[in-house]
Amino acid sequence: MKIPDALLLATENKGKFAEISAIIRESIGNQITILSLLDLDEKIDLGDEIGSSFCEIAEAKARAAMNATGIASLGDDSGLCVDVLGGAPGIRSHRWVDVPDDQTRNSALLTALSRHPGEWAASFITCVALCIPDQTSITAQGELRGKIVPAPRGASGFGYDPIFQASGLGLTLAELSAAEKNRVSHRRNAIQNLLASAQWNVQ
Ligand code: IMP
Repeated sequence: MKIPDALLLATENKGKFAEISAIIRESIGNQITILSLLDLDEKIDLGDEIGSSFCEIAEAKARAAMNATGIASLGDDSGLCVDVLGGAPGIRSHRWVDVPDDQTRNSALLTALSRHPGEWAASFITCVALCIPDQTSITAQGELRGKIVPAPRGASGFGYDPIFQASGLGLTLAELSAAEKNRVSHRRNAIQNLLASAQWNVQ
């Protein structure tokens, strides 16, 4: 796929924008202008997260952003999938239980897991989708495999980071610096896979 002049990341999240654009720039340098929804004059409503898989939701976000602006757009969707829970919280990670904050959500997950003996293997999954006007869209997935630990540890990151330990690491993601987490993250894996499949990994 030809690299467009501009790429719109279908997010208003500044942390996600910084992380994803840095990974893209590692591959293709400054030959592209990368925008977020916050850079647009008009507010774009991506609608509700509709879809039954990470990739369907990521593609719906990218397509909505591209259709509203005419700019090549990248959408993403992520979540935590725990094996003994049949892949839950999955695409419902953000709103898995109706609680006000991440800490209470993590406690609820540990309570649900306490009924299951043994190690709680889990993966963070990200799917990213790239929609370019007049071209077939492409999607790619990234995974970070690990396990849920019995009690939260660490203060950095967000979401389920304090209760997730990646395979081969003795620390939870919340005990890593942002740079250390970003080096191994499911989002990085997904974007690198997408860049490879678009043949944009030219550097
Ligand atoms: P999103 O699709 O990237 O907005 O992620 C949806 C939800 O999945 C978040 O609100 C978090 O609960 C969870 N999640 C996704 N990525 C991560 C991560 O890197 N660390 C911790 N939680 C995450």
